[in-house]
Amino acid sequence: MTGHTDKYHSCEDASEYLVPLLNERDVFNTEVYTMGMTLHGGSIDFGRYDVVVLNINQVVWDEDVKSDFEKYVSSGGGLVVMHEADNAFPEWGEFNRMIGLGGWGDRDKSAGPYYYWKDGGFLKDFESSGPCGWHGQRVPFMINVRQPMHPIMKGLPSAWLHVNDELYGNLRGPVENMEVLATGFSDERTGGTGKEEPVSFTVAYGNGRVFHCVLGHTSKGDNVALKNVGYQLVYVRGVEWAATGEVTIELPESLPSAESALQRELLCD
Ligand code: ZN
Repeated sequence: MTGHTDKYHSCEDASEYLVPLLNERDVFNTEVYTMGMTLHGGSIDFGRYDVVVLNINQVVWDEDVKSDFEKYVSSGGGLVVMHEADNAFPEWGEFNRMIGLGGWGDRDKSAGPYYYWKDGGFLKDFESSGPCGWHGQRVPFMINVRQPMHPIMKGLPSAWLHVNDELYGNLRGPVENMEVLATGFSDERTGGTGKEEPVSFTVAYGNGRVFHCVLGHTSKGDNVALKNVGYQLVYVRGVEWAATGEVTIELPESLPSAESALQRELLCD
């Protein structure tokens, strides 16, 4: 689902890349649903899909669309949330339970704790006040895998360099039934939070599987973050996992490493 985001991002540029990334793989049949600012009841039948990928932000869904969507995910539907889609719907409690953590949209301490990796484990900080949603400069950072045996991460390097992206931090949310697959260090020296922030995680919402990846900043004419091979693999495997609970997409021979990032163009470019 695409069609409306915010002044910092381009859902058109993101979709131009995110959809072909799926179409390159023979496991997916994709349909692009382009919405305007508002989605009215009866516009979309979520039940037709194994997984819904959200590439939207400042949109308005009617209450019956929201309740249809809650039923769709809780009864076993898949959901994938990319980058600024976790800024959406700050007021919708069930959506925030689905996505685990969200940012911006006037969220504050009442949205839930900060959640990050520290001293070998994850820490919920209910005490600190402060902003919800932050990123520093778009400097290279390391992605550190925390669940190497999860189907989405299996076989990927234990750490790899990711470039040209925003590293979201200081997100807040309900953090229910959530498993963080990978974190990234947000360096204070380049305007970051100083924390090892969750970058990819899963949430169990009823019988539904949610995959949330905070990576993938795309603005008009700038989709370079999406060209990271590590990001692409986590994305397509995350979509398959959210749809089926399994991952059949194999890894290529060339992978990024802790020493060097790896980028590629689409096969169809
Ligand atoms: Zn962004």
